[in-house]
Amino acid sequence: MNTCCVRETAENKVWGRIGELKHLKSKKPDLILGICGCMTQQPEVGEKIRRRAPHVDIIFGTHNVHQLPQLIGRVKEERKTIIDIWETEGDIVENLPSKRVEGVKSYVTIMYGCNNFCTYCIVPYVRGRERSRDVADIAREVAQLAGEGYKEVMLLGQNVNSYGKDLNPRIEFADLLIELENIGDIFRIRYMTSHPRDFNDRLIKVIAESKKICEHFHLPVQAGGNSVLKRMNRGYTKEEYIELVRKIREQIPDASITTDLIVGFPGETDDDFAETMDLLEKVRFDAAFTFVYNKRSGTPAAEMQGQVPDEVKKARIQKLISLQNTISTERNLLEIGKNHEILVERRNKGNPVLMEGRTRTNKLVLFKGGEDLKGQMVTVNIVDSGTWHLDGEMLKGNYS
Ligand code: SAM
Ligand code: SF4
Repeated sequence: MNTCCVRETAENKVWGRIGELKHLKSKKPDLILGICGCMTQQPEVGEKIRRRAPHVDIIFGTHNVHQLPQLIGRVKEERKTIIDIWETEGDIVENLPSKRVEGVKSYVTIMYGCNNFCTYCIVPYVRGRERSRDVADIAREVAQLAGEGYKEVMLLGQNVNSYGKDLNPRIEFADLLIELENIGDIFRIRYMTSHPRDFNDRLIKVIAESKKICEHFHLPVQAGGNSVLKRMNRGYTKEEYIELVRKIREQIPDASITTDLIVGFPGETDDDFAETMDLLEKVRFDAAFTFVYNKRSGTPAAEMQGQVPDEVKKARIQKLISLQNTISTERNLLEIGKNHEILVERRNKGNPVLMEGRTRTNKLVLFKGGEDLKGQMVTVNIVDSGTWHLDGEMLKGNYS
């Protein structure tokens, strides 16, 4: 079981699942249960699992995933719970076997870890420092995916904009994108996540000139109040963020911009929250992931004065979601009448007459069509819209 610990709800779910697996283990005593990931990488969690759930066989962290075969071997031999959690990251291990979900798009990790230490976030503590994979290794993986029939790749990293800073010679994320652009049979390149502080003019230019890099910018802003942003250690002001959005829209007018937002960070006042609402009005995001601040022990923000009461957080998140939903609905209405290139992904689960896919700007589009369209690029005319999706009609004879 792989785990996440960014928010407490994720951790609580894992404890529930570990409990459920006890029954399975008693029915099948030879089953080997392993727990890994960010949750186990936190201090003392490994011991806590051993104490509370003796039916778990292997507990390992984020830095020694490549050792799984050896850990399974040891458990079979020693017949006791094995805890093996490395405190620090080692070198990147390449060529590990991977099992991918069938489909038209695939994920490619380009870097591990994070150096940013946003004060609310546990990630740097459980994932270690930034390590970038070599361009040649990434290019080889993308070419292999193209050969297997994938049409779109999503490049993954906690802060892809600082890709390459640790490589020798040092290179920029933009250089990696230029390199990947040359791989035939991959039609679309996406990436996640970008840090607004590190998004430079050259990168905007490379994306604007590219045929494959999609015009979707996921730029987590987190908050609108400058004092909150400062205490979050985000490294930019509200004004700098708005200027970045202006530059992107100047060069790529049709770009969609999405974000992550946190409400109720320690010390967030009504005025600070009003700044976040104002930012939403000014930027007009296409969509946003909204979070209530969650106190993660081990992070600086957990020790900060002025923790915001739950009922205040609840009221603020409702207002935030309501405003963002209105804006998303209005932004989607502007799409009606436009033609979009769609990469068809699958049949729609709710209505099987419909196929679904995404625009280059990452908007979900539903339209009538057959199974044979899966994996094809089609042009769709948008005829209607909602808060989270668009409805379209496929223009005939437009396969590519
Ligand atoms: N690296 C990415 C970035 O810089 O935005 C995202 C990684 S983080 C795992 C995903 C999102 O979770 C963050 O953008 C933030 O909004 C949210 N998040 C992280 N820690 C949180 C916390 N303690 N409480 C609430 N939300 C949190
Ligand atoms: Fe966490 Fe992202 Fe900040 Fe890194 S950049 S500390 S992953 S929120």
